[in-house]
Amino acid sequence: MEIKEARFLISNTDLDKCPAPNKPEYAFIGRSNVGKSSLINMLTNRKSLAKISVKPGKTKLINHFLINEEWYLVDLPGYGYAKIGKQERKKWEKFVRKYILMRENLFCLFVLIDSRHEPQNVDLEFMEWLGMSQIPFAMVFTKTDKLKPGELGKNIESYEAKMLETWEFMPPYFTSSVSTGEGKKEILNYIQDINRENI
Ligand code: GDP
Repeated sequence: MEIKEARFLISNTDLDKCPAPNKPEYAFIGRSNVGKSSLINMLTNRKSLAKISVKPGKTKLINHFLINEEWYLVDLPGYGYAKIGKQERKKWEKFVRKYILMRENLFCLFVLIDSRHEPQNVDLEFMEWLGMSQIPFAMVFTKTDKLKPGELGKNIESYEAKMLETWEFMPPYFTSSVSTGEGKKEILNYIQDINRENI
């Protein structure tokens, strides 16, 4: 699938103000600085549809985009930014978790993971919660261009080993790099396949 049109619709922190849930929806989430805005811009062929953060932890709103008049792409606020206060974190938890649990047209949540790092508790716990809540999700290992040959496979294997301590199987996963374009075709095809089954 090619993204021919990507149109910003609305930013908010309120589930009730999101667009009517009448189209398939795909959301992107991850720790601040994981490369979420860059990935969204790569997928949509736009330089700055999603704002690349100058300061980590900046996106605090649920941002809806309409893609090809057919489906919604959603940029969710990043989590796990050490400097955000407890109060702020609670607020994030409340509206983002509510969105994830209640958004009936959310067909897949893409959870972004920096491919350079060891499995982090904040990501593992978040995915554990997704599993328990029966939210369909896939993982995206980002910034693969920053790794040396062989490192990516090793890091994914160690992630898989960690996940399999609690999961019966590894969720679907992708690898991506905005420098090489890796993952773009695969992620868009995955979305297209789900759309075909549902539109
Ligand atoms: P966000 O906070 O998750 O939205 O992350 P951003 O998209 O703003 O990216 C954070 C930083 O990582 C920026 O300096 C990006 O240029 C850089 N970055 C994002 N994706 C990649 C990638 O695939 N490869 C490389 N080398 N850098 C990346």
